Amino acid sequence: ERVLLTGGSGFIASHVLDTLLDAGFQVVVTARSDEKGRTIAESVKPHQICYAVVEDIAKDGAFDHVFQIQAPFDYVVHTASPYYLNVQDPVKEFLDPAIKGTTGLLRSIKAHGPTVKRLVITSSSAAVLNPDNHPKVYDETCWAPTTYEDAINHPAKNAYKASKVLAEKAAWEFVENEKPNFDLAVINCTYVFGPIQRKLASLEAMNTSNHRIRDMIQGEKRDGLDPTAPVFTWVDVRDVALAHLRAITVPKAGGNRFYVVGGHFSNKQIADIIREKVPSLADRLPADAVDDLPDDVFSFNNSKSRQVLGIDYTSLEKSILDTVGSILALFPDA
Ligand code: NDP
Repeated sequence: ERVLLTGGSGFIASHVLDTLLDAGFQVVVTARSDEKGRTIAESVKPHQICYAVVEDIAKDGAFDHVFQIQAPFDYVVHTASPYYLNVQDPVKEFLDPAIKGTTGLLRSIKAHGPTVKRLVITSSSAAVLNPDNHPKVYDETCWAPTTYEDAINHPAKNAYKASKVLAEKAAWEFVENEKPNFDLAVINCTYVFGPIQRKLASLEAMNTSNHRIRDMIQGEKRDGLDPTAPVFTWVDVRDVALAHLRAITVPKAGGNRFYVVGGHFSNKQIADIIREKVPSLADRLPADAVDDLPDDVFSFNNSKSRQVLGIDYTSLEKSILDTVGSILALFPDA
């Protein structure tokens, strides 16, 4: 069976791609340039994949040619969406690619992908959490209240969050209103750690959520750790990738969102794991950091992801050590 995977150059997508290929799927990835497409194809050898160039997912009809040239597809997995911290223009940089990218893809599938049975979208805990008013326990029934206006008024705090929650809502609304030929499953993963892409060009090009590990092992936090807040939950990227695969292969996953979260963490716990298990890096870490994980931190219920998708969550220690190992393997002078 054939899968279209958007945003193939991304961190999470690289693991989704490995997982799909290992499960025997044929995969076509989208990338923003020929060069990026070739790099992705190179990274999965001896597996063979095709790529299609989609320069900007925010453009009208951005995906149409992919369906016209590369179809038929049985499934589509949509991971492409901007995720970085330095926002200048919330609409152009975040809201348009996330929301128009998602609705444009849905329209392309409906118009040109009659064989598609399911679309899996990588949403986020950003579409679940309500940091100003945490419930006791988060689960799939929770929705972030962030609006388009919040993103315009406070881009640094809200552009990414609004982009994720509004894109996800638009997808559910599309399926509800248009009753297309495919159903929808959504992965709401929380903050993701794990091995970096095998062909990552530079340490600067590393995905956002691994930065805190990169920065620690480069000695940038030797004088003290940043606050962990507001992020206190994490998940391993290989669990996230498996959740995407199972969202395709488990029939009853359709029509559901899945809150994919492995546990709580703090920056001090990460530093302690690295200090204990990789002593050669110990002098780059702060000697006596304070643990800022609050006693009354919000809790989460990940039972739906365990029961329906069969996820058995990776430990923080394994995830951190494998991340560090992957960085040092590719960049020994880090
Ligand atoms: P990456 O930055 O590694 O991947 C983002 C991908 O989206 C890249 O392939 C990027 O292409 C592509 N992309 C971004 N904007 C556009 C655009 N306008 N047109 C075409 N392609 C675009 O991030 P992650 O792998 O971490 O994130 C992947 C998905 O997972 C996102 O949807 C993100 O919101 C979600 N997510 C991530 C979490 C995390 O902690 N990492 C947590 C929860 C959700 P290029 O490489 O060319 O820039």
